[in-house]
Amino acid sequence: MLEERKQIVEYSKKLITRGLTTGTGGNISIYKRELGLIAITPSGKDYFKTRPEDIVILDLDGNIRDGSLKPSSEWEMHHIFYKNREDANAIVHTHSKYATAISCMGWDLEPVHYLIGLAGYEVKCAEYALYGSEELAENALKALGDRKAVLHANHGLTALGDTLERAFSTAEQLEFVSEIYYLTKVLGGGNLLTKSQMDVVIKKFYS
Ligand code: 13P
Ligand code: ZN
Repeated sequence: MLEERKQIVEYSKKLITRGLTTGTGGNISIYKRELGLIAITPSGKDYFKTRPEDIVILDLDGNIRDGSLKPSSEWEMHHIFYKNREDANAIVHTHSKYATAISCMGWDLEPVHYLIGLAGYEVKCAEYALYGSEELAENALKALGDRKAVLHANHGLTALGDTLERAFSTAEQLEFVSEIYYLTKVLGGGNLLTKSQMDVVIKKFYS
């Protein structure tokens, strides 16, 4: 899992440099489906001091298979997503400013900009639960539905993808959509895209 560990170290620094989290907030994982193993960021460690060997390797029962640090407190959410979504091979959890502001309103992110299509027609906000809890994982899975991202009330956002590059890009673009959503709310409410307009966008993304 050395390649996965290196990729996680590289992308976790981008969480900070691209403004998707502050401090040690957020976490990243990759699922190696054929091995049944998950590589995940350690809990509460400075992303610029994290080395490949600090990335924790877990099996699907939550047992540590390699690594000496504590896995991310959100490991149960990462697990429940991988168990229930065959299209998920990577997960990026962020505390990006505008997405988090929308989550603090308890709002769903609506289709105000076509880039929301990376996740689906909309992004639902999961019911509040304590960070790092099994309840947060369950609420997130429920609100995720068949989409590729979910907001966590009063907390942040999680995106999944078939690769880490795509999961990260979805998280990053959804932060842009969240900022636009905020601005359009301030301006009195934007024109939302219709279901059929979004269906065309989503089809185009996949072609
Ligand atoms: P960890 O450092 O334990 O991954 O926690 C960060 C976080 O975002 C919790 O929701
Ligand atoms: Zn968090």
